[in-house]
Amino acid sequence: MADDDKRLRVQATTDPLTGLANRAAFLERARLEIQRAERSGRPLAVVLLDLDRFKSVNDRFGHPAGDRVLVGAATAISRTVRGIDLAARWGGEEFAVLLVEADESTAGVVVERIREAVAALAPPRVPVSVTASAGIAVHHGLFERSQVEGLLRRADAALYAAKRKGRNRAEFETSLVAPPSTPADVRLR
Ligand code: GH3
Ligand code: MG
Ligand code: MG
Repeated sequence: MADDDKRLRVQATTDPLTGLANRAAFLERARLEIQRAERSGRPLAVVLLDLDRFKSVNDRFGHPAGDRVLVGAATAISRTVRGIDLAARWGGEEFAVLLVEADESTAGVVVERIREAVAALAPPRVPVSVTASAGIAVHHGLFERSQVEGLLRRADAALYAAKRKGRNRAEFETSLVAPPSTPADVRLR
């Protein structure tokens, strides 16, 4: 009975192809970490990654080859992030990553490492390199009241900008949600 429960729980929270957390598990954990960030005042980054021109991998080498790339990318991403972070398959060739206690600078470094790891992939019988684009949104902790949906929207807008700027790169969201401002900042607005 306990084993059955465990199996069902794993099925409900895991992406079967890559073994990463699925979208539902990501959202649940993100909501929890946002509450924590708002209490502790520590920042948190939400990252959306999308493989570049992935349709052409399938078209040229077949869907099973595409699947091997997805598995390789998933492994690269989860190996790159810290144990306290969460990498998930958002759907299709998109991944979501939650970087806890990460500000812009930390998130930028981690995402750059992920980008490099994906570009270095060499899955069996896929003789091309695959790159990823990323969008990053940072929740600044104290004084910010952002929902996960808002952070994801901001990360997605940044991802769109990364695609537009030529792919194989990361962009930060440039939203109107500012980090906690100093009184001097407030006077300037
Ligand atoms: P872009 O750089 O703009 O993201 O281009 P793209 O080709 O990656 O984007 P597009 O949305 O046109 O295509 C995504 C492709 O991802 C199409 C779809 O067949 C493929 N895909 C989605 N899920 C899977 C999967 O589970 N396995 C495989 N092999 N391919 C998948
Ligand atoms: Mg996509
Ligand atoms: Mg894509």
